[in-house]
Amino acid sequence: MSTPRLCCLVSIIILFLSTAGMLHGQEQEPLDYALKVSIDVQSSKVEGVASIRLRAGEKILLQKGPLRIRDVHLNGKSVKIREQDGAIPITALRPDVLRIRYEGIFRPHGATIGQEPLEYASVIDEQGISLTGIWYPKVISPRLCRYQLTATLPRGFEAVSEADVIQERIREGKGVFTFRFPYPLDEITLVASDQYKVATDRFGGVDILAYFFQADAELAQTYIEQTKRYLKLYGDMLGPYPYKRFSIVENILPTGYSMPTFTLLGQEVVRLPFIPQTSLGHEVLHQWFGNLVYIDYAKGNWAEGLTTYLADHLFEEQKNAGAAYRKALLIDYQSYVHEGNEFPLADFRGRTDYASKAIGYGKAAMVFHMLKKSLGNDIFLKSLRYFIGAHRHQRASWEDLQEAFEKGSGKDLAWFFKQWVHEKGLPDLSPEDSHSIPKYGAWETSAMLVQWERPYILDVPMTLTWNGGKKAETCHVEEKRTRLSVDTGPMPEKISVDREYDVARRLSRQEFPPVIARLLGSEKTLLVPSQTGAGIYREVIDAFLQRGVLLKDAASLTDADLASASLILMGVDNPIARQLFGVVKADGGSSISVRENPFNPSHVAAIVHGSSQEEVTLAFDKMFHYGRYSHAAFEHGRNISKGVNDTESGITREVIALPQLDQSTRDTLAKIIAQVATKKIVYVGESHDRFSDHLVELEVIKALHRQGRTIAIGMEMFQRPAQQALDDYIAGKIDERQFLKGSRYFAGWGFDYNLYRPILEYARAEGIPVVALNTEQEIVSKVFHSGLNSLFPEEKAKIPARLDLSDKAYEERLRKVFKEHEAWREERFDFFYQAQVVWDETMAESVSDFLKTHPAYQMVVLAGSGHLAYGSGIPGRVARTTRFQSTIILNGPDIEKDAADYVLSPQAVTYTPAPKLMVFLTEESGKVMIKSFPEGSISEKAGMKAGDVIRSIDDVPIRSIDDGKIELLFHKKGDTINVGVLRKEPSGEEKGLEFQLIL
Ligand SMILES: [Zn+2]
Repeated sequence: MSTPRLCCLVSIIILFLSTAGMLHGQEQEPLDYALKVSIDVQSSKVEGVASIRLRAGEKILLQKGPLRIRDVHLNGKSVKIREQDGAIPITALRPDVLRIRYEGIFRPHGATIGQEPLEYASVIDEQGISLTGIWYPKVISPRLCRYQLTATLPRGFEAVSEADVIQERIREGKGVFTFRFPYPLDEITLVASDQYKVATDRFGGVDILAYFFQADAELAQTYIEQTKRYLKLYGDMLGPYPYKRFSIVENILPTGYSMPTFTLLGQEVVRLPFIPQTSLGHEVLHQWFGNLVYIDYAKGNWAEGLTTYLADHLFEEQKNAGAAYRKALLIDYQSYVHEGNEFPLADFRGRTDYASKAIGYGKAAMVFHMLKKSLGNDIFLKSLRYFIGAHRHQRASWEDLQEAFEKGSGKDLAWFFKQWVHEKGLPDLSPEDSHSIPKYGAWETSAMLVQWERPYILDVPMTLTWNGGKKAETCHVEEKRTRLSVDTGPMPEKISVDREYDVARRLSRQEFPPVIARLLGSEKTLLVPSQTGAGIYREVIDAFLQRGVLLKDAASLTDADLASASLILMGVDNPIARQLFGVVKADGGSSISVRENPFNPSHVAAIVHGSSQEEVTLAFDKMFHYGRYSHAAFEHGRNISKGVNDTESGITREVIALPQLDQSTRDTLAKIIAQVATKKIVYVGESHDRFSDHLVELEVIKALHRQGRTIAIGMEMFQRPAQQALDDYIAGKIDERQFLKGSRYFAGWGFDYNLYRPILEYARAEGIPVVALNTEQEIVSKVFHSGLNSLFPEEKAKIPARLDLSDKAYEERLRKVFKEHEAWREERFDFFYQAQVVWDETMAESVSDFLKTHPAYQMVVLAGSGHLAYGSGIPGRVARTTRFQSTIILNGPDIEKDAADYVLSPQAVTYTPAPKLMVFLTEESGKVMIKSFPEGSISEKAGMKAGDVIRSIDDVPIRSIDDGKIELLFHKKGDTINVGVLRKEPSGEEKGLEFQLIL
């Protein structure tokens, strides 16, 4: 709902006002504007005479909209007018009265309203008269107008306009209304009807009137009583209601407007049962914000956000639903606003679509919320009272609000208004690398609060929770990365950022439900028609196509298509719906159900279903009003069920109890790091499956980073093609699932990712680059099986040109290892040795290349001890082509002392491995098939059989072994999961089955 219509010529006004050099600083004396109109209902016509008193030399623009100007007189002389971009410029040479005779026809529905923009949506009809916007020549000037309106109407009409006093005289069988309002206005409105039944009451010295049509007369009392409540609420909060009367006026047009002294609500609107508890309060509050203090549109509309905050939001907060309301505002923002249509609050003038509403109402309400949180309620309201006092009956801007809040708080708030009003966007933040360590019998939990976009200055509420308890703290952050620590007695299980939605910010994937709004706000949407019910959906499909949705046939869709867009799938029998979600059920005559697009969680997939064309048509328009819901069902166009999928509150991360290295290792390590901190390369060797070794690596990385050294991490565990995924993950562009899939971690390495997770989480939280060192698996494997000579030229091009096979001691050590593991054949050892050297040379080359192209960096290289011992594998090969200083630290009880500069023997530390399905799998063209089971397999016990094709875990499609491993990583032992499989029956028929497993 809004204040009087935004003038459609805002841009012209801005141009006019600024070229006239008259942008108001001090408020100017208003223009006197006498307007006499008479209305003929039969012909839908208004005839009028406007008399405007101008100063010598004064320039104004007249906006004429759809009006016909009969004549214009200045100084009693006829003036020839010329129109410029829909407006007429007038210059007065001396003080005089500008007199305009005009007429306008405002036919009901279709004639005028259909073709004209809403601003001209006025109507004169037997049903009633509703004149808003340009129904008289409107003055554009830095000066507001003091109107004197007289309206002649047929007998029996009741009329309302902006007025403290309304009088009617009968002259020549007609009603002549005069409206008295001593204050200047931006514009004036006239509403009248002979169907009104007027109810009156009085409250706190204010006349309250309800102009309702006969049919709705019984609603008047409720509206009057609620109005009293709001006048009291806002009178106490902001100072007395400023006018002598307030009317609730029913309109024949579907409006939700508020003008000084009245609100104009469409018939469809007043009949909605929740309006007296919601929108009415919003419109009453506009009496202060918009109708007492006017909006300086040229500098942005602040009034909607403020009114939304202190009305709609306040009412929800009074029901203890403030956090849910704020979350809904952020869901709207994230659904509708994207890079292409985002703008700063200062550029908001009025709502023109969902996106502008999400900014001008939603984000703005969040901004006032943050202001109130940081200043406290008392100072917040005191500042608003200053603001109202200083700008009564004048236009005011965001700058004036800033001034009032600075005066009220005694604080410099320039940064706040710059960040939230004059710059666009929302912060994107999350707690990373959250872990607890024991501290004197209690726990210290720390997390890195990362702002992934530009850093904002924020007060961020953080909550630590554990079984039966919690601790909340608000943290002030200004940097891209802020390390936060909190002490608690028990060990916390979870850390949540902003559980109550007190910060205007982007939502994490886990907080952002798939809702209809996301479909409507999607930048790219593909529609897949139903194969059986084409006729049922024809109208809906046409409507979607008009909105820019692309039509795609199920058969022609590739996985890449599915991942590239949001999807509308018509019909529950749609093959794509079945492919993505298995069996889908629908209820009601028609329904829409929105889910996350399993191929790309930043998009959604909606299944639209209908039982007949009639059902679909009746429900279709209504669906758009259910933007906040994930699913809605209709019967004969009536909603029968709706709901929104559960999501997390706040950005939540599990807190890992990070096991500690034993004290003596840590002490030793501290001394070592002090000695080696300046080395260009620090090699740290590991046994891949020993968690303690990874903790040593993490300790080295942390220590160097904390000293302020610019470091990168080189990892054997990633192959060079994974570099992009690593970069994107570290930069916060993709989440962990996308990273593991994109880097092909499981296919290329395979050790439990939880062994390496703390290192990568730390790197991401701190923005430390990670370099993929290794050769592509396929090449090493080919060399291992068939030798170097088997490589094709294009494969050779991917490995270093020079392969040094001359290190005999290294060869001998490898031969010893090889003999222990492989059936001994000299020829096979040659291939094995060659593969090992390809591996080493590639990693050495990756290290050298990075350090040569990034001279500011030092590198911590993580690799299996075998690649580092005696400097043979990687270090010697790097040294061959560079002069970088390096050191080698190896871990493990059985490493000879002279194999490295430092040899550590950390005590074993246990970690929590990812749960397993306990199946042996094969993977072929997008199908993951069970080959066999190990002993005691939980999957076999649950009823799965060899030959079953695993299609999904919970709702996530599984098309590779990687997919399955990634999904399991997000579960822990004891979780229950649903595994969807496809089984080929002996008859050859394929059947979809679902099994429940406890991990
Ligand atoms: Zn409003």
